[in-house]
Amino acid sequence: MVNFPDKRKKMVEYTLFLGCIIPARFPFMEKSTRLVLSRLGCILHDLEGATCCPTKSIIKPIGDLAWYVTAARNLALAEKAGHDLLVPCNGCYSTLKSVEVKMRVNPGIRKEVNALLACAGLEYRGTIGVKHLVEVLHDELGIPKIKQHLTKSFEGIRIASHYGCHMLRPSSSIFFDDPNKPKKFDALIEALGAKSIDYETKMLCCGGNLNTSDEPEEATALARMKLNELTKKADAMALTCPSCFMQYDSRQYLMKKTGEKLNVPILFYPELLGLAMGFSTQELGMEMHRIDAAEFLSKWDSKYEYLKTLKDVFDVGSVRKCYECGACVNECPVVKINPDFNPNVIIGRLLSGELEAVIDSHDIWQCVDCYTCYELCPQKMGMNKIFDKLKHIAIEKGKGPKSFTASIEMFKKEGRLGEPSSVRKKLKLAEPPKSGGEELKKLLDHINTKGE
Ligand code: SF4
Ligand code: SF4
Ligand code: SF4
Repeated sequence: MVNFPDKRKKMVEYTLFLGCIIPARFPFMEKSTRLVLSRLGCILHDLEGATCCPTKSIIKPIGDLAWYVTAARNLALAEKAGHDLLVPCNGCYSTLKSVEVKMRVNPGIRKEVNALLACAGLEYRGTIGVKHLVEVLHDELGIPKIKQHLTKSFEGIRIASHYGCHMLRPSSSIFFDDPNKPKKFDALIEALGAKSIDYETKMLCCGGNLNTSDEPEEATALARMKLNELTKKADAMALTCPSCFMQYDSRQYLMKKTGEKLNVPILFYPELLGLAMGFSTQELGMEMHRIDAAEFLSKWDSKYEYLKTLKDVFDVGSVRKCYECGACVNECPVVKINPDFNPNVIIGRLLSGELEAVIDSHDIWQCVDCYTCYELCPQKMGMNKIFDKLKHIAIEKGKGPKSFTASIEMFKKEGRLGEPSSVRKKLKLAEPPKSGGEELKKLLDHINTKGE
């Protein structure tokens, strides 16, 4: 009896199945995949003798058996090599996984296919797994391990995930994520610090298969729906399928040439991961994209530098912990008398790059440091701590309300904020103790000299 074990060996060695499109049209996808997986400690083996997966939309119409045998031959070769197949192309993954499952659950097909494979001295016994790149990164290598290798965060950058139908479907064969409401690719994007945005056309097919049925207008129309939405909402799109890439990158290029106002850089996920790991765009081969990612990359650079400055003001990551309960706004005494003062709006402005404008504004001087927000916040964020920092930056830059700067000057000079009142005599109060202002001034000068 053929042995089809349920439990498979855990391996960090994989056989890489690239399919036809990646080596032929997008070798930079192979480059980034190899770079990031090697950095994560994986050993990748090539599959000698591999053929087209085969592409379902083109080869299956020839006949089911031709489709099964071609895929099973690739599976048998991988089985001989002894490692799970790692597939960075949605179409190849869906085909190989579907046939692998069919061979396991249908003894009739298995027998018929293996009889044909025997003519080539091959047999598929079902001892290896077929894994999508996203599945390997999320389920096998894991987000904590990925995070250990990151050097530059995508914080503040909005990425739209495009899963692509064949990463998740058909769910009769593919089980690693929900076919309609998947989460794992989004989690991989957010692991890099980026925001994986929600958007209406998220699960819409790219329409690539319409090209094979000579329907380029329809293929363009489907691609346009997503690109139109994302031009307004996202800084870039991330995906893991060369066919989807062709639709969104190459087709977008043609659409732009005819005057369509689109601008969505398309990134193969290992490129995004590679950038966050510190690889350069040249190492990743990103100049081979049709849609130039230069603007996106420069936005990322300035955002990164800006957030580094902002981190001196407050723990930017702590904003993610906010429950949005509203207590810090609803109970703030200043909000009660001035609805234009809104601590949450000020934080939002800081995150969106308005540090200078916020420092210049009157808002930061309105916080009365009452600690109400700190005491009521379930996360103990404390807006007053943030306002303290902002006030400090403003003072360093010579900004601030006149009364405030006058008080600071007096404090620096006299060591106190007011001269003893002459009324004291009328009240027969003794002379107040001498001010230690001189000594304090020396200490403060010492701090200033140290800071220079
Ligand atoms: S979105 Fe299109 S090209 Fe991508 S996997 Fe689905 S059908 Fe294939
Ligand atoms: S500390 Fe400042 S921001 Fe917080 S409640 Fe008091 S006045 Fe409002
Ligand atoms: S009180 Fe804290 S958790 Fe609630 S909205 Fe304000 S910052 Fe967020």
